[in-house]
Amino acid sequence: MSQQKLNGKVAIVTGGGSGIGRGAALRLAEHGAKVCVLDRERERANMVKEEIARLGGEAMAVEADVSESESVRMAISKAADRWERIDIVFANAGINGTWTTIEDLSEEDWDRTMNINLKGTFLTLKYAIPFLKKQGGSVIITSSVNGNRIFSNIGASAYSTSKAGQVAFMQMAALELAEYRIRVNAICPGAIKTNIGQNTNRTPEAEEAAIPVEYPEGSSPLEHHAGSPEQVADLVLFLASQQSSLITGTKVFIDGAESLLI
Ligand code: NAD
Repeated sequence: MSQQKLNGKVAIVTGGGSGIGRGAALRLAEHGAKVCVLDRERERANMVKEEIARLGGEAMAVEADVSESESVRMAISKAADRWERIDIVFANAGINGTWTTIEDLSEEDWDRTMNINLKGTFLTLKYAIPFLKKQGGSVIITSSVNGNRIFSNIGASAYSTSKAGQVAFMQMAALELAEYRIRVNAICPGAIKTNIGQNTNRTPEAEEAAIPVEYPEGSSPLEHHAGSPEQVADLVLFLASQQSSLITGTKVFIDGAESLLI
């Protein structure tokens, strides 16, 4: 824990127990932030908390479901109670949901994707804003190339709609919160190697009906393979830090130009 760019700052990372969230939690802690690792899987959140502790950083693990109002409110309050401030919010928890035709997509699957990806983002901001307002801060929302540049993944109607909705929400939040010096941006990753496929917890029936969600290898012109959570973490760190002090209301693609080819 040598570099202290975020010394004294407190960060909430939703979906911090795995993949992109884990990578960002480690990177923010490495740069001095105290990190609340929020995840619906207690064990995963704990593991990341311990990883941060082993590296000499400070973290807490909170089990919470971002789609459930009381759960996310309590989780954010716990972090604010312990560290008396919140400066950075990485609203990142998300699922792929079920990828299938609109005709075959169940209402339950549509709602589950919207509730976690879109409503979860709203709830995370809703309960963090009172703390962010006190001194200003930075919010980063994990959207996707899906729903923003890529529209060719037939079957991803719920996922893409939720990810496009996050960008509209981000723009509204950036306008609304600018007067409090709260910046709000979205990141749009392309294919990143994580466990999102397994972690989505599809039902066996949905699994059977679903169109495969894997991105093809070699799709990024820059690197010819999927990106890593660590590469995304560098972008999150930049958007969280004062180095991006004039950047708000923006979506940043991080996909090695993969989406320009599709
Ligand atoms: P991941 O499954 O590795 O990590 C997501 C974490 O979020 C998991 O630990 C999971 O338990 C947690 N989570 C899921 N639902 C939750 C809920 N309701 N409440 C709290 N925690 C919850 O996946 P990832 O790839 O790191 O995904 C993170 C974000 O990145 C998602 O929003 C996803 O849509 C987005 N994304 C991923 C990719 C990719 O290729 N991996 C590309 C574009 C966007």
